[in-house]
Amino acid sequence: MSRLLELDGVCAHYGPVQALFGVTLRMAPGEVLALMGRNGMGKTTTIRTIMRLLPCRAGTIRLDGCDLSRLAPHHAARAGLGLVPEGRRCFAPLTVAENLSVAARPGEWTQARVVALFPRLGERMGQRAATLSGGEQQMLAIGRALMTNPRLLILDEATEGLAPVVRHEIWAAIRALKAQGMAILLVDKSLAELAGVADRATILERGATVWSGAMAGLDDTLAARYLGV
Ligand code: ATP
Repeated sequence: MSRLLELDGVCAHYGPVQALFGVTLRMAPGEVLALMGRNGMGKTTTIRTIMRLLPCRAGTIRLDGCDLSRLAPHHAARAGLGLVPEGRRCFAPLTVAENLSVAARPGEWTQARVVALFPRLGERMGQRAATLSGGEQQMLAIGRALMTNPRLLILDEATEGLAPVVRHEIWAAIRALKAQGMAILLVDKSLAELAGVADRATILERGATVWSGAMAGLDDTLAARYLGV
């Protein structure tokens, strides 16, 4: 299969404390991968390492065959990685339009296309991000990542803490992005929603990959063993 993202034996540390002990995963172009595992197993750390926010101490990270392992963090977006971090960080004092335009890089994703995905943002263009609801801030965070015209969109707990109706809107947007061919790496607590959109899953246990396969192959036994459900 052609490879968009490849991690092989990735290790990372927080200071002296090792958090990743060999993360291996594969994503094909246009694929949606669920990165799973119980709390504290290394999902966010893996994302931080892919984004170059933590050094990759051992192993390799490749995007479209190019080695990212030694890339400076500020070059991650230029390389084609679009991150929606945990906690949906936007620039609070800036307006919705300003938040989108400062993130913009050339490509198919424009403000108009983001508004087509999230019409609510279109009604709030002149409003400061600080005054948006939690759900609107999450839409803006996703919109900002899309404005960088990524080859890979990474969503870390994008529906965390949102009301059910807003979660529903975010999942609908994720499905729409998939239908448009966007490759997406997803971390989320909802197994049911992940099962509805992900093609494949990779499960982490204590900072290492313990299972990878088709989402349909993630049966009750695996879920009980590795996800505690
Ligand atoms: P969760 O679902 O709870 O967010 P996770 O799978 O994303 O969990 P990580 O946040 O990647 O897990 O944490 C992996 C390990 O690294 C844990 O043992 C955690 O305590 C540790 N860790 C995370 N952040 C730091 C940090 N800033 N400094 C030191 N250790 C950290």
